[in-house]
Amino acid sequence: MSRENQISSPVDLEAARALLRSARALVCDIDGVLLLCGKPVPGAKALLEKHRCVFVSNNSTHTAEELSEVFRRLGLKGDARDFFLAGEASIDFVSRTSPEASVMVLASGGIAVKARERLNVFNPELLTATHRPDLLLLCRDEEATFEKIEAAANAARLGARVVLSNPDLTHPAADGMIHTETGALWAAIRAQLESIDLFAVIGKPNADLVERAVRHLRLRPSELVFLGDNLRTDAPAAAQAGIPFIHTGGAGFRLIDLVD
Ligand SMILES: [Mg+2]
Repeated sequence: MSRENQISSPVDLEAARALLRSARALVCDIDGVLLLCGKPVPGAKALLEKHRCVFVSNNSTHTAEELSEVFRRLGLKGDARDFFLAGEASIDFVSRTSPEASVMVLASGGIAVKARERLNVFNPELLTATHRPDLLLLCRDEEATFEKIEAAANAARLGARVVLSNPDLTHPAADGMIHTETGALWAAIRAQLESIDLFAVIGKPNADLVERAVRHLRLRPSELVFLGDNLRTDAPAAAQAGIPFIHTGGAGFRLIDLVD
C-alpha cells in the first residue's frame, strides 16, 4: 500500500515505528497522546526532541501562547506558532468569513479575551425578540451558566447561525472521570431548537485544523505522520488530509514503544 493511501493505523509495532521514522514531521493530537491529565505521557519529551512536531487539538479553552507555556513548564518543546487549536481557529474563521457580524460568544479565559479583541461581540443582556446577534460562537465555556445557555438558545431560535469550535462531548480527566466539552454545551442548546442552522464546525474530525498545520510545515501530507488517540476524530481528520495515521494512547500503541 502506498503511503498516500495508508489511512488506517498500522497494527504491527515495527511497522508503526518504521512509519514514524520515515516521517519528515509529525502532526500530534495533545490530550491522550502527549499529555494525560495535564502530565506528559512517557516518551512525549523524547518524541518532541527527536521530531519536528506541530500540534492539532480540539482545545477551545486555551490559546496557543497558554498551551505553549504549559508545555514549557512541563519541560516539553512546543513553540506557540506550532499549535493549531479549535478555539482560536473558530475566532479566525468568524473574523475571516464574517468580519462585520455581531457574535454572541460562549467562551472563557484566554479564548474569551481573544474573541473580545478580534470580534464584534454581542452583549447577551441586549438580546430581545427583535435584536439578536448574527452568529453564535460556541467554545468550551468554563463559566457557562443557566442564563448564558438560555440566551444562546434564544439567539439561535431567533436566527443566529451557529459556529461550533468542536463537537466533542467530553475529554478525559483524572481517575476515569470526564471533563464536559463544547459539544455537550451545544447539545443542551440544540435540544431547545426547532431547526438547526449550523454554519460551521471547526475542530476534528473536520480536516481544517490539520490542513492549516500542513500549510505551516510546508511539507506534503504524505511526508507526515499523524499521531492520535481518538479514532472518531483524529483518524478521519488525518485521512481527509491524506496523512498516514498512527493510533497511540488509549487502545493504540504506547508512545514510549514508538519512540526509539
Ligand atoms: Mg486526544
